[in-house]
Amino acid sequence: MSDRPLHAKTLALHAGWRADPATGSVAPPIYQTTSYQFRDTEHASNLFALSEMGNIYTRLMNPTTDILEKRLAALEGGVAAVATASGQAASAYSIQNLARAGDNIVSSTDLYGGTWNLFANTLKDMGIDVRFVDPADPTAFARATDERTRAYYAETLPNPKLRVFPIAEVAAIGRLLGIPLIMDNTAAPLLCRPLDHGAAIVVYSTTKYIGGHGTSIGGMIIDGGNFDWEAWPGRQPLLNTPDPSYHGAVWSQAVKPLGPIAYAIRARVILLRDLGGALSPFNAFQILQGVETLPLRIYEHSRNAQAVADWLAARPEVTTVIHPSRQSGEARARADRYLAGGYGGLVGFELAGGREAGRRFIDSLKLLYHVANIGDARSLAIHPASTTHSQLSPDERLATGVSDGYVRLSVGLEHIDDILEDLDQALAAAG
Ligand code: PLP
Repeated sequence: MSDRPLHAKTLALHAGWRADPATGSVAPPIYQTTSYQFRDTEHASNLFALSEMGNIYTRLMNPTTDILEKRLAALEGGVAAVATASGQAASAYSIQNLARAGDNIVSSTDLYGGTWNLFANTLKDMGIDVRFVDPADPTAFARATDERTRAYYAETLPNPKLRVFPIAEVAAIGRLLGIPLIMDNTAAPLLCRPLDHGAAIVVYSTTKYIGGHGTSIGGMIIDGGNFDWEAWPGRQPLLNTPDPSYHGAVWSQAVKPLGPIAYAIRARVILLRDLGGALSPFNAFQILQGVETLPLRIYEHSRNAQAVADWLAARPEVTTVIHPSRQSGEARARADRYLAGGYGGLVGFELAGGREAGRRFIDSLKLLYHVANIGDARSLAIHPASTTHSQLSPDERLATGVSDGYVRLSVGLEHIDDILEDLDQALAAAG
């Protein structure tokens, strides 16, 4: 074959694996093992010293997980990836790989609630300060930066507002200061490749669209290999100063012969080693099954969601439809700049009848599932004011974009007529 890059549809089926050399197995085997036989003591000590790459222990690496890591790195245009036990672990590690107590990061306010909690409470308790800024103005990231800022963080297509993040604008600000942009691309795989726009790291909850089947929790950290850590020794000390926990290794130097994978290697050999949030090989296999059809699913999710958004906009019970296609001005320009081939599978809407109408709507659904999840092949719905956001004050709820009558849909792959029929009867019941 020629040297041109393969298309996403092809990578999703082939990247990282080509038939088992021992058995000929075409499907990736599930290497359900904790540990690996060393050839001899020299081999073992080379592996531990990272002078030779190979399997040591499944908390650090696993051959099934390795296929998934290679496949997602290839799809994203990155150089290496590290799988984690969940999307939450991926988000936490992506920051702990750069920041320690006394440091800070600057994050967009538009975040998944679990990430918000991690940033506002748990990282804070660990001594890592998270400064939240409104992404509508990219220069706010520069204003919140000081000499201990180690990373910028945002989501490509954050719900509930579904305002696409200005990736290139903020990445460019960070690159002038030695600060990498970490993008959570969970809601927009394939529709957006943040590394192409200057982001340095991509994280995923692979629990969502990447898996697609709703069977397996997982996460992924993808190293773009496009950030010059060495050029910023003062700004990025964790990658540029001797690591006492690894016989003084300086990560920006230690693995240079293997390529620009300093960030990924540190995440693996320090964070997976010490904090232990490794993906199970079985879940890696399950998620790989999902990846194979991701290029078929994600555009179909987008088409169905677009049809739902258009249909809801014509309904008298609905006051507002939240979907990138219904935005204007800068927000719409960003959606069109950063998303290609569709606006994703999420749609929000507000019911004129407020909180009670929201509850009645959810309780009347027959086909759509009522769950706290997104990105399943099945259509899902939730009423955040009475569930995920019920602990917030009304003002806090509104600030996060959740009004009393707000309903979030993760539009699935069922026939559009069946989805609309269920929405129709639930809207009628909600009154
Ligand atoms: N990031 C986003 C955008 C999410 O929606 C979620 C989960 O809902 C996560 C991260 C966390 O992922 P997980 O549930 O796999 O830990």
